[in-house]
Amino acid sequence: PQPPYKDGVPEQYYKPSDPVQLPERKANATFVMLVRNSDGPNIMNSMKQIEDRFNRKFQYPYVFLNDQPFTENFKKYISQLTDAPVEFGLIPSDHWKQPDWIDEAKATAAREDMMKNNVIYGGSVPYRNMCRFNSGFFYKQELLQKYKYYWRVEPDVKFFCDIDYDPFLLMQDEQKVYGFTITLYEYETTIPTLWETAKEFIKENPEYLPADNAMSFVSDDGGLTYNRCHFWSNFEIADMDLWRSEAYTKFFDYLDRKGGFYYERWGDAPVHSLGAALFANKSQIHFFNDIGYRHEPFQHCPQGDLHKNGKCWCDPGSNFDYEWYSCLSRYDKLF
Ligand code: GDP
Ligand code: MN
Repeated sequence: PQPPYKDGVPEQYYKPSDPVQLPERKANATFVMLVRNSDGPNIMNSMKQIEDRFNRKFQYPYVFLNDQPFTENFKKYISQLTDAPVEFGLIPSDHWKQPDWIDEAKATAAREDMMKNNVIYGGSVPYRNMCRFNSGFFYKQELLQKYKYYWRVEPDVKFFCDIDYDPFLLMQDEQKVYGFTITLYEYETTIPTLWETAKEFIKENPEYLPADNAMSFVSDDGGLTYNRCHFWSNFEIADMDLWRSEAYTKFFDYLDRKGGFYYERWGDAPVHSLGAALFANKSQIHFFNDIGYRHEPFQHCPQGDLHKNGKCWCDPGSNFDYEWYSCLSRYDKLF
């Protein structure tokens, strides 16, 4: 008689995975992916790694966000990658589109000027919408209201190591509010007036800065100038209450009203980084040294025991931490 078959393979060859023992304690947290339909294959690439290296054992939910409706195919294939809940949200257009109080002639001139100077994404309106959305709107989405912590994941990133503990619980138990893996300098041409604007805000609202803030991470001269250091926001594990706070809410609105998301090309990375450096205690900013991570063209590869414990597959010799363009040593100096 024929052996029982499963997907064309005799069942005797199968070894079922051990049933997953879900942890007793979890944080109020989710993954967040802002993507287009065309990012489907590339975000599946990232999500599969997250599942295999971490979430298979922890079952945190996913929230996918898009300024266009997700296609049925997108939702189907994404949902098949995990046993955890997956939700898909459509971003309200007033959270995404260039506001009408932006002077379009001035914005157009700025884009043309940046294109001439080969500023990366300098001519793009959608990229600016995305930066503004990530700076001040993602945590206002309806699907995210029930969550406190999030882990931002982008298409085509790499996670090199097993993550055998819950980074969200670490954030919660250690009272961290912002976690990063890579930190570097921002292009001056994208943020010419960002620091002046932030300084005006600080001058008008000094009460929002805790005494123990991380100002010295972003300024080498006590706040006079910005050294352009920022956390690379394509990876973030953070507490949305930081962005939902009165301080950051007013800060974002202040920046937004100045128009620099469109008249310049302010990125969400420097904006979040200034938010974290100014409004959090420095002890609340966490370097996830054990999380091996790559977003082109840089990677953080854990060293020594961390590399071994995580069974990491990155080349330890290829590690951005103390390259000349990294800001990690400035973070180290905070402590
Ligand atoms: P880079 O990392 O700065 O080069 O920018 P990316 O192209 O990776 O964009 C950053 C994130 O925003 C990624 O998760 C993208 O999928 C997402 N993104 C960028 N532009 C758009 C857009 O127009 N619509 C949507 N829905 N997502 C976008
Ligand atoms: Mn990216």
